[in-house]
Amino acid sequence: MDKEELKQFLLNNLPLAREAKSGEQVVCQCAVCSTPDTKGHCYIGPFDDTDSPIMYNCFRCDPTEERRKGVVNQEFLNRYQLWMPGDYGNNPNRSYIKKKRIGNRQVLDIANTIEDTRENQLKLQYINKRLGLQLSYQDLVGLKIFLNLQYLLNSNNIHTYSRDANIIHLLGSNFLGVLGVNNNMLSLRRLIETGLPNTVNKKYINYVVTDKIDAEKFYMVPNSVDMMKPVHIHIAEGFFDILGIFFNVMNCNTEQNLYIAGFGKSYEESLKFLVCNFPMLYTVVHLYPDLDVTDYVVRGICNNIQPVVNELYIHRNMYRGDGKQEKDFGVPREKIITSTLKI
Ligand SMILES: [Zn+2]
Repeated sequence: MDKEELKQFLLNNLPLAREAKSGEQVVCQCAVCSTPDTKGHCYIGPFDDTDSPIMYNCFRCDPTEERRKGVVNQEFLNRYQLWMPGDYGNNPNRSYIKKKRIGNRQVLDIANTIEDTRENQLKLQYINKRLGLQLSYQDLVGLKIFLNLQYLLNSNNIHTYSRDANIIHLLGSNFLGVLGVNNNMLSLRRLIETGLPNTVNKKYINYVVTDKIDAEKFYMVPNSVDMMKPVHIHIAEGFFDILGIFFNVMNCNTEQNLYIAGFGKSYEESLKFLVCNFPMLYTVVHLYPDLDVTDYVVRGICNNIQPVVNELYIHRNMYRGDGKQEKDFGVPREKIITSTLKI
């Protein structure tokens, strides 16, 4: 029995079962909390062509309830008085050892777009100075960072732009950016503050490559994790922050760590994107709020996300230089003093 057959079985037999996420997931009523509602809140998946195990995760169960998530096996089906069909029940764990790649997909080719021009040298210098690093062009490719939007589009044979050609030119010269997780949405960061027309004079600008509806507005440092082991999820506001955290706080630790930043999305949305798409057994979430996010707001965020995480930590950059506190984590290592609070 393959994943598709299991999916059909679950759709036919679980209460309130329906497809979600274009068929990658099945949602049904949870047998543990049995939340009385017209819609189920137990998410099962992924029903895709990867070898990830099929897991479930209820979003309405009490956070301390251990049975709110796990592997879809006979024990899970017992709650619905169902028997695992065919040979699936013999080995639901079969793919546990394999790691799931997250954020690695790269449809647009960045490699050909980074020429050693004066402009690109300056942009690379900007990144390295800002984060206190010595990255090469090749490092940028691995991190899904591109230096010129116009080159990126043209070298990928995309000549139909979703914005005016003049704007594409301005975004190419004065911004750099990253590819989103699904590559149809890009996030651009402004490099100069003066001389830009109002339409593009913003710190961050999103660019839609195609008009596909399910554009995912998130940047992730490409990595692989074993979803059956605890996964640490690091969430920051912008992609410079998350790069600063990856390099200067976590020392490029990729072991069971995921790094995500939304393109103008909230912490909640970033986390929701991850837990809905990549069922993980045990999540340790690390938030890195900017200085201007008050403790009050952070407490609200924590209350919202606590039900779906196992452990939660807040990290703030307490470094003070020139009489003022550093705004965020998108800075060199020597300008970071982390204060951590366990929630
Ligand atoms: Zn439940």
